[in-house]
Amino acid sequence: MAKRQIRDLLRVTPGGPVDLAAIDARSTPGFPDGVDRPKSWAGEQLQAIGAELAEHQERLYASAKRGGDRRRLLLVLQAMDCGGKDGTVKHVAGAMNPLGMRITSFGPPTDEERAHDFLWRIRRAVPEPGYVGVFNRSHYEDVLVVRVHDLVPRRIWSRRYDQINRFERELVDDGVVIVKVMLHISYNEQRVRLLERLTDPTKHWKYNPADVDERARWADYRAAYTDALARCSTEHAPWYVVPADRKWYRNWAVSHLLRETLEELKLTYPPPDFDVAAERVRLEQDDMR
Ligand code: ADP
Repeated sequence: MAKRQIRDLLRVTPGGPVDLAAIDARSTPGFPDGVDRPKSWAGEQLQAIGAELAEHQERLYASAKRGGDRRRLLLVLQAMDCGGKDGTVKHVAGAMNPLGMRITSFGPPTDEERAHDFLWRIRRAVPEPGYVGVFNRSHYEDVLVVRVHDLVPRRIWSRRYDQINRFERELVDDGVVIVKVMLHISYNEQRVRLLERLTDPTKHWKYNPADVDERARWADYRAAYTDALARCSTEHAPWYVVPADRKWYRNWAVSHLLRETLEELKLTYPPPDFDVAAERVRLEQDDMR
C-alpha cells in the first residue's frame, strides 16, 4: 500500500467545508507515534529531507536551463502574526540552493503597486522556470488584511476570490506548481510568542505594538481565512493547513509537503545536447599540448 501522504492529511478539500476551530494548532498529523524525542527526531528528519529537496531543486533548475522545461515551484506562506513564516523560510527553504530561489515578502503596497490591480506585483514575483519561489505573504493579503480593515469596499474584495482562482489556473497552465500553506497557530500561542519578543532583548526588533491591536481582530481574521481557504483551495492549487504551535512539527510538515510535491514531478536531469565522448577527447587532447 502506498504510504499515506502528509498532503492528504493537511489538504483543504476543494469545495469542502473549512472549520479552523476544529483543527488543533498543537496537533501533529502524520507524525509517527512513539518517537522518543520528537523534537530532535524531527530536526534530523528535516536535515535529510532538506538534502532531498536540494536534489529535486537542482533537477528542476537543470531541466529549465538545458531542457526548456517551464516548471517551477511556488510556496505561498500565510499566517497570523507570529505564525512562523520567517522560521519556515529559514529552516525549510534554507535547505535549498539560494541561487535557485526567489523569495519575496509582501508588505503594504507601495504607491506604484497601488496604482495597479492587486495581482500586478504578484505576477512580477512569480519565479521563472527552474526556480523555487517563496511568497512570504501574498495576494491573499488582498482578501485578508484588506477585508478585515475595509481597505477596499466589499464589492471589490469579494470578486477577488474568483480572480485569484483564475490567476492561479493561468500560472499552473504555464508550469507553476503551487503549494499554499497556512501556518495555523492558536490565539494563546501568539500571545506566548509576542511575550517572548518582549522578554528577549534580541527579539525586541520583531515586536510591533500594532500586532496587539491586530490580535483584537482575531475573529475577523479567522472568518477571512476561512473564506480564503474554502473558496481558493482548488484541485490545481490546493491549500494546506499546517498546525503550527509546535515549530518542529511545522518545519517537518512543510518539508514533507514540498518533498511529496516535488517527487510527483518525477524530475530528471536533461540528457546532454552534445557528444560526451567527443568532448572528452577534445579535453584529453588539450592536456597533451
Ligand atoms: P511580517 O509581519 O510578514 O514579518 P511586516 O512586519 O513587514 O512583515 O508586515 C507586513 C505587513 O504588510 C502586514 O501587516 C500585512 O498585513 C501588510 N500587507 C501585506 N500585503 C498587504 C496588502 N495587500 N494590503 C495591505 N497591507 C498588506
